[in-house]
Amino acid sequence: MAQISGYIGRFAPSPTGPLHLGSLAAALASWVDARAHDGLWLLRIEDIDREREQPGASDLIINSLGAHGLSWDKPITYQSERSIEYEDALTLLRQQGRLYACTCTRKQLREIAGNRVDRSYPGFCRDRQLPEADSALRLTVPADQRTSFQDANYGEVSETVADTIGDFIVRRRGPFYAYQLAVVVDDAAQGVTHVVRGADLLDNTARQIILQQALGCSQPAYLHVPLVTSGEQKLSKQSGAAALDDHKPVENLVDAWACLGQDAPDAADLRTVDEFLSFAVSNWNRNCIGNDSVDIQNKNLVDTNG
Ligand code: GLU
Ligand code: ZN
Repeated sequence: MAQISGYIGRFAPSPTGPLHLGSLAAALASWVDARAHDGLWLLRIEDIDREREQPGASDLIINSLGAHGLSWDKPITYQSERSIEYEDALTLLRQQGRLYACTCTRKQLREIAGNRVDRSYPGFCRDRQLPEADSALRLTVPADQRTSFQDANYGEVSETVADTIGDFIVRRRGPFYAYQLAVVVDDAAQGVTHVVRGADLLDNTARQIILQQALGCSQPAYLHVPLVTSGEQKLSKQSGAAALDDHKPVENLVDAWACLGQDAPDAADLRTVDEFLSFAVSNWNRNCIGNDSVDIQNKNLVDTNG
């Protein structure tokens, strides 16, 4: 697909399980927003967290996106193949004196935090000059730095990361590169201009902006879409949310569309995946998305008895 606009979007699933309705809604929002802006849409598999990864999930996700007509424009990238780029970023941060090794265990941190409400990392290892090997690496976050950004759906979001999170981990012991580092390095390397994703990542964005600033990367525009829940439960791959039936792509897309607050199509637009998607691109309205999580138990979804 020819790129006319300079818009580059992406979908970046972690292969922790097959796609469910919530992740399809996020993928659809990201794909439609890119297409409605004559943009490119990329697919990146975020397979750096081996503990959470489920064997075979990458292929399930890729096949499922294909079955739902959500086509990508460049070869799929895999974070597991990009360690050199993550090391380069760490080198840059190290040169700025922004990195330090931390050997605190979760248990120690709980004890240090005691009954403090905020529970941000107290900088315990900041001045200890510990060796990097066999340690996690943290990024120093200036105490007074307030990070603000404009989300296209949630409006102005503002966070002082030093208070909410503190110096955060960019590489875990292992070494395993942290999601925050990898996502920033990859979005920049792929020239991503628009990040459209689930609202569970809204409170990760300030940390990512801090990293973008430290690494000299430009900041993409953000649009977060509400989470999809079933009753009290957030739909998540790990909590075993029902995998989509790839044989009913139109029904699933219509359900995902409803979760995005969009006006339902006429039956005439419902016959094939391609017909639905071209309807979606022409009718996509960011202003309808809404901010509250969407409970599928309260929605009249097409596929409720499926
Ligand atoms: N890999 C992350 C996830 O599946 C999403 C990353 C992103 O969209 O920034 O939760
Ligand atoms: Zn520590």
